Amino acid sequence: MTIDSHMHINSIVLNDENKYIDLINNNSDIESVINVGLDLKSSKESINIAKLNSKFYSSVGIHPLYIESQNLEILYDLADNPRVVAIGEIGLDNTKNNFNEQRKYLIRQIMIANELHLPIIIHSNNCNKQIITIFERYVKPKYGCVFHCFQPDIDDLKYLMNNGYYISFAGRITYKSAKKSIEVAKIVPDNLFLIETDSPYLSPEPLRGEINETANIKYIISKLSEVKQKDYKEVEEITKQNAKRLFRKMN
Ligand SMILES: [Zn+2]
Repeated sequence: MTIDSHMHINSIVLNDENKYIDLINNNSDIESVINVGLDLKSSKESINIAKLNSKFYSSVGIHPLYIESQNLEILYDLADNPRVVAIGEIGLDNTKNNFNEQRKYLIRQIMIANELHLPIIIHSNNCNKQIITIFERYVKPKYGCVFHCFQPDIDDLKYLMNNGYYISFAGRITYKSAKKSIEVAKIVPDNLFLIETDSPYLSPEPLRGEINETANIKYIISKLSEVKQKDYKEVEEITKQNAKRLFRKMN
């Protein structure tokens, strides 16, 4: 059985959330999923889904593209819940130029995660270097960190590996253009990689362009098993153990 370490059931893309919740509940290959918050509203929804469905865990946080004068102190209350396993997704995104705001939100949320002894889920859109600079100059995650849907760069990868941070592979690794991701996957040690769908976004080959769902994680496992020359079950098991080590509250 598999853990999908990063997905969004409560996304604006879906207009029938219950259908996607049922698909996961009825899928005997899926042990659990982390339904990742993007803003306060989706974080609260994710907690409610997790309270009602035992396969679902939640993370809470403000994504850099969804910043709107939100009171981050609420995260203390939201995270004080056995089903909330991380602060995220948080990070930097270079498609918007409100970098000062984004940086403030990121730093504050890392501090909250450290106070609450929670790991963080990082979103980086072409900002790995800037995020690493924040870790070095301002605040480092103390209780674990994963770069979700990692944008491949060997120097950044070395920094993450040296600090024991995790690298998560999504549908991108199945694309024909994924040479660099494959190179990264070959280097990442067994104890530091996770898998995710980032559904409903980022469908893997051969389903690119369609609405993505957690069941499609099988294409990502297959690709990784080919790249890392391990069998399917082994990749499934390794990534499950890694997810449980990083997201301790899942145990
Ligand atoms: Zn996401």
